[in-house]
Amino acid sequence: MTTKELVKKVFFIEILQGLALTLKHLFTPAVTRQYPTEKREPFPGSRGLHALVRDAETGREKCVGCGLCAAMCPSQCIHIYTSEGENHKKIVDRYEIDVLRCVFCAFCVEACPYGAVVLTGHYEYSDYNRDAFYYTKERLLENWDKYMSGEKGKEYFEKFWRPKSEDFGFPTVSRTGDIKNP
Ligand code: SF4
Ligand code: SF4
Repeated sequence: MTTKELVKKVFFIEILQGLALTLKHLFTPAVTRQYPTEKREPFPGSRGLHALVRDAETGREKCVGCGLCAAMCPSQCIHIYTSEGENHKKIVDRYEIDVLRCVFCAFCVEACPYGAVVLTGHYEYSDYNRDAFYYTKERLLENWDKYMSGEKGKEYFEKFWRPKSEDFGFPTVSRTGDIKNP
């Protein structure tokens, strides 16, 4: 044992340091928030309630019903029902999320090649009824209007998802027929 360690032991230095720390915290203000009277704004990119992105031009969902999000979902809580429209185009008849099963991993957001599904910052949606947590396409679009439309939605994609979609842009074909990957 060194002299320094011996002095520490004799004078209970570490115990005194611990007590000093406790005393210091006795007189600092508490950090507990008195929810729900005191609320904190969700951070950008928080993983709250889902929304389906509404296309500003068409006013309809951006989703094309490819099913990638449902395939990636580890909880298997996304249900998509499509039919065939004009020119064999897929029509999304129903898009539903059973939010009670969701683990908020955001794999669905990451998998979507069209930026058509998001997790909003809204987290206050408790209810007494299980059905309230089964979100239909219409309700998911309403969530977009309420919580993400405008600048918020733009920021969400630019800050968190845009770099990824840019990394996987479309290849271009030159005049000589060479294919250039981005
Ligand atoms: S956040 Fe994860 S668990 Fe929830 S719907 Fe998306 S992929 Fe499924
Ligand atoms: S939300 Fe995206 S990944 Fe899911 S079905 Fe629609 S377009 Fe495809």
